[in-house]
Amino acid sequence: MKSYYRILRYLRPFSLNLVSSVFFNILAALFSLFSFLMVVPFLEILFGTTDLVMERPEVSVSVNSLVKLFNYQISQLIVNEGPTAALILICLLVLGTSLFKNLFRYLSLYVMSPARHGVTRNIRNELFRKVLALPLSYFSEERKGNTITRASSDVQEVEISMLNTLEVIFKEPITILFYLITLFIINPFLTLLILILLPVTGLVIGRIGRKLKMAAAKGQAWLSSLLSTLEESLGGLRIVKAFGAEDKMAHRFERENEAYFKINVGLYRRRDLSSPLTEFLSTIVIVTVLYLGSTSVLDGEIEPGVFIGYLVVFSQLINPSKTFSKAYYQIQKGIASSKRIEELLDADIAIREKPNAKPLKDFNQEIVYDDVSFAYDKEPVLQDIKLTIPKGRMVALVGPSGSGKSTFADLLPRFYDVTSGSIRIDGHDVRDLKIADLRNLLGIVSQEAILFNDTIYNNIAFGKRNVGRNEVIEAAKIANAHDFIMRMEKGYDTMVGERGNRLSGGERQRITIARAVLKNPSILILDEATSSLDSHAEKLVQEALFKLMQNRTSIVIAHRLSTIQFADEILVMRDGKILERGNHIGLMSKNGFYKELVSMQAF
Ligand code: ADP
Repeated sequence: MKSYYRILRYLRPFSLNLVSSVFFNILAALFSLFSFLMVVPFLEILFGTTDLVMERPEVSVSVNSLVKLFNYQISQLIVNEGPTAALILICLLVLGTSLFKNLFRYLSLYVMSPARHGVTRNIRNELFRKVLALPLSYFSEERKGNTITRASSDVQEVEISMLNTLEVIFKEPITILFYLITLFIINPFLTLLILILLPVTGLVIGRIGRKLKMAAAKGQAWLSSLLSTLEESLGGLRIVKAFGAEDKMAHRFERENEAYFKINVGLYRRRDLSSPLTEFLSTIVIVTVLYLGSTSVLDGEIEPGVFIGYLVVFSQLINPSKTFSKAYYQIQKGIASSKRIEELLDADIAIREKPNAKPLKDFNQEIVYDDVSFAYDKEPVLQDIKLTIPKGRMVALVGPSGSGKSTFADLLPRFYDVTSGSIRIDGHDVRDLKIADLRNLLGIVSQEAILFNDTIYNNIAFGKRNVGRNEVIEAAKIANAHDFIMRMEKGYDTMVGERGNRLSGGERQRITIARAVLKNPSILILDEATSSLDSHAEKLVQEALFKLMQNRTSIVIAHRLSTIQFADEILVMRDGKILERGNHIGLMSKNGFYKELVSMQAF
């Protein structure tokens, strides 16, 4: 239940709504009680068993005196106008009270609505912020699907389980309480009996609920893998088709879907059990009450009309109890989801800013990798890296894929933290700096051009506040992007499509370069992005990159060795270590691994 209370804590901002909802529910319960109790005088008139009250009773504020007053008025009516008139009056009263009951019922739902949807809105917002705050290392492919399920389906599950239960929790207990009190006033003995039988019913229901919770958790886990598979297949659809792997992916999906199906069948069967089970259990209670009550009537201990009235009110208890038990099942199902949401909300933000983090506004001297080692898991990916990059220099990283080049670059903006050693900028350990300041110094152009489904203008101005149109255009010009943008129908206001899929690879790259130009960072990290482009596109991108790198400090991950011959220092990496270092000429004359790499590319 802990997770449920935690979800309920999100209700705090809506306490006014809850209080007014409870208030309206009390009014609704009172009015509905009143309308059901009308059956007693109605039957008494019909059967002619009314005890006529001819003397006007004393009026005071008690149930008893109100009943007496009512009986007096009815008696007057029967004597003066006849029983039919009295029946009509009662019918009108029933209509009137029912109208008010439903009005208040609606009002209670009306004020509750912002609360229940507000909670899920707030949870979703919080989840999204959390997703943005979590380190890159959190999101492997599998976690992505999982995160999406949590933010969509789990939140929805909580919404459904809360949606149904909030109203029930704030309404049914009130109804049940009022009805029980009334029943108790009418007949304490029978009511005590009901009070004993009810908890037994509750126990049976509780047992099923626990199993339901476990099944629901499994179900959501399978749904996550389903979504992961879907996401993975969509992302790699081209490859799936090219390798004829449709069947393989379909089988995987179907296997997961089958597991999800089985869990759901069991889950819903169990949940569906709640209603018939409660109904049968309550029938046992009803039959007991019926039997004992009617013997009392036969023995002349209770008026028949009063007993029927008792039964009517009693029968009205069944529905709230049923919804209550159903709500209990829903909550159990929702708890499984709320636990999953909690896990994400509580996930450790491994990369944190220190409370006393230092500000750093500009970069003046050097970047130092001091004996840096790093491992994603246990396997070391970088070992004993020592490097000093003075301001204004260009360092290139080359080496076979998997040698640790991207990891090397990812450590500088603290996408990951070093496992040992340290990275310093102007003498400050990057872990001591304000994260925003650190990243503000850096410009990153990655191998894969990341664009958002927005206009070209907004993609260039991304992450920057208050930029003028001229600055954006200036940046695009430097990035060799202005001309092709102007050729587009809507120019800078053209939408780029999802992930920029309406643009060619080279165009996408040049837009990300324009973005970096506009940011005007002191330090550049380039995951050299030209390898997938044709030679014309490559030339344009390369030119743009050279312009971007002018007068900056840069770390370039090079895939084409021809482009880094002018680097001040080239690090040749293999298996996470620096194998050779030096400039192009020096390395070539060494006749080592670098020369081997160069001659391989020359082919
Ligand atoms: P490069 O950029 O030279 O191709 P990377 O830095 O991407 O090399 O990878 C270096 C090693 O780290 C590889 O063995 C790769 O499998 C591993 N690796 C990369 N990213 C991750 C990750 N997120 N989790 C675990 N291992 C990773």
